[in-house]
Amino acid sequence: MKIMKFGGTSVGKPERMHQVAQLITKDVSEPRIVVLSALSGTTNSLVAIGDAMASGNREQAKQLIDTLEAHYQSFIKELVKTDKLYVKAKSIVSEHFEFLNIILKISFSEALSKDILAQGELLSTKLFSVYLEEKGIDHMLLPALEFMTIDAQDEPQLSTIKVKLNRILQQNTDKKLFITQGYICRNSRGEVDNLKRGGSDYTASLIAAAANASVCEIWTDIDGMHNNDPRIVKKTVPVEQLSFEEAAELAYFGAKILHPTCIWPAQQQKVPVKLLNTMAPEALGTTITQEAGSVGVKAVAAKDGIITINIKSSRMLLAYGFLRKIFEVFEKYRTSIDMITTSEVAVSVTIDSGSNLTSIVKELEPFGTISVENDHTIISVVGNEIAQTKDILSKLFDALTPIPVRMVSYGGSKHNVSMLVPSSYKTQTLQLLNKGLFGLE
Ligand code: ASP
Ligand code: MG
Repeated sequence: MKIMKFGGTSVGKPERMHQVAQLITKDVSEPRIVVLSALSGTTNSLVAIGDAMASGNREQAKQLIDTLEAHYQSFIKELVKTDKLYVKAKSIVSEHFEFLNIILKISFSEALSKDILAQGELLSTKLFSVYLEEKGIDHMLLPALEFMTIDAQDEPQLSTIKVKLNRILQQNTDKKLFITQGYICRNSRGEVDNLKRGGSDYTASLIAAAANASVCEIWTDIDGMHNNDPRIVKKTVPVEQLSFEEAAELAYFGAKILHPTCIWPAQQQKVPVKLLNTMAPEALGTTITQEAGSVGVKAVAAKDGIITINIKSSRMLLAYGFLRKIFEVFEKYRTSIDMITTSEVAVSVTIDSGSNLTSIVKELEPFGTISVENDHTIISVVGNEIAQTKDILSKLFDALTPIPVRMVSYGGSKHNVSMLVPSSYKTQTLQLLNKGLFGLE
């Protein structure tokens, strides 16, 4: 079994969908499960519709629904050629927009907002199925809501997903091509829910693990994970090979191509993940496997919006249990710490969400003098055994002479050296590292 996931831009235009149909029928040596996102822009629109309803602005919600419907009406005109399948596509669009219009009339709730968000993936998969039907490509729609489940903590339940998915697959062994929705799932109350924004990658990885797939292909519009942020530095190159750990660090520390939580299911079952480009299907892309392949620096990534909290206290001197007490405050507010540095009289930690900042600072106050610095960026250098790589630190600091590096985290992981810099220095830092570590301008 092979898993192939296509993101919003890969299905965002009728001609792109046509191309996806070609890609999934090129190699038929094994059965395939194809995971689709919503058409690009749709989930954003659905979020806006939900927000408008939540704030009681029905008129605005109605307008957004109508604009989105018009988009789908013109989409299907170019998607299919025959009258018969156009009528079918039109009735699918009508059905889903009727549903949205009905929701508009009932009182809004959190659960309803999830129903609204689910329409994007339901529409993309059903419309794609109509196109496959027109092309005479045999396939089956696999309803994600029948097997993709999350528990009361919103965590996917891999063992349940496995049982449910394999039951459906075993009942359909004659089928070689399955189409399913990314992102959407059922929660512990049985309601429609989702795996959070960008969650289709997660769906693909969960299905890959559940079906013990030979490979999990993530098709986007860039040829793999790059060594640096292509939006910021001029010359970047795709990284051919990464280990799961390296990929997880890169995804977490800002590489936009892959959803950070999506690595673990594939990693657990050792299913290789390939990042491929719909626009350049022949390009190698990036392969993520258990083994790191080569030693050395592979890529840098940046994560913005970091807040630094400094705790200074002479009472820390020779005391024990101090860090535990500090960590407990963050635990209480379910705020995760990204970086930490300590000296005998001070601790600095970074967090990426300020939603509980005031409460956290208030509870830290008894421990010492607290100061907060906003607008920091974590620059993460990722590679295999980089802590053992000769000269890595001298190379790094040579490259970054002009940068006021605020914190360094080295040795916590074999795969990562992280530095904290003021966000205003991010661009310069990434450019200097591109030259200093990769010899690229
Ligand atoms: N459609 C969802 C989103 O835009 C899920 C995904 O595309 O991965 O977040
Ligand atoms: Mg995505």
